[in-house]
Amino acid sequence: MISLSVIMGGMNMDVLMGRADLHMHTCASDGIPSAKQILEYVERQGVLDVIAITDHDRLDESLWAYSQRDRYAFDIIPGVEISAVRGHVIGLWVSELIPAGLSIPETVAAIHEQGGIAILAHPGEVLINGGHVLRYLRTPSVLVQWEIDAVEVFNAGTMTPGNNVVARRIMRDLPLPVVGNSDAHTLSAIGRGWTRFAGRTGADLRTALLEGHTAAEGQRWSITDYLKLSLNSTPIKRIRSSVPSSLMTPHVATTD
Ligand SMILES: [Zn+2]
Ligand SMILES: [Zn+2]
Repeated sequence: MISLSVIMGGMNMDVLMGRADLHMHTCASDGIPSAKQILEYVERQGVLDVIAITDHDRLDESLWAYSQRDRYAFDIIPGVEISAVRGHVIGLWVSELIPAGLSIPETVAAIHEQGGIAILAHPGEVLINGGHVLRYLRTPSVLVQWEIDAVEVFNAGTMTPGNNVVARRIMRDLPLPVVGNSDAHTLSAIGRGWTRFAGRTGADLRTALLEGHTAAEGQRWSITDYLKLSLNSTPIKRIRSSVPSSLMTPHVATTD
């Protein structure tokens, strides 16, 4: 198993008590569990202080989860994973959907317009980022120019071997905060990547991200997580995930 701990800002690890997983998917995009199943799992698991559900290019499940935050012992923040050109950007604390297909800096600017935080997901993943990976390695300062707020240096579900090593290399000399996430598509993958921060709440996490006092840790998904996702990836599921969110039925909140 791969485990790492990367810290920026020179803080003592003992100060970073909170644990957040800010990247996971429901069955509304390409994950398996529903938002409600995720919330109940995180409550039972009892190790995460803050989570964000970040479906691909749709916000409805995440906003529904956010509306349920008072019912749980952990904090919930709204989020989305936006498909930009040659890259995925996680927008946290956003409430309006940002269209897919913008450039990365355009996507970051749209997140900031809503007062959100923009995190570059899996920057070393060549299957998604293509030539941008080389660009990040050669000129990492472009991430600062694009006004990205934080970079995911640990992704527990990464597809390409060495992806997280490349991400750490990109971030070696950059003055940006780091995050670690599970990118969970199954319940059992939730919490396998996490961000440590001072405090316990979403507000504490936001302060830590803005001040650059975070650490990234985690372990890769288990083989079972990959198998479950593979078996769930039917042609029907793939077609469903390609339908624009505007054409899909919004989540209906239940009260049971
Ligand atoms: Zn992604
Ligand atoms: Zn993802």
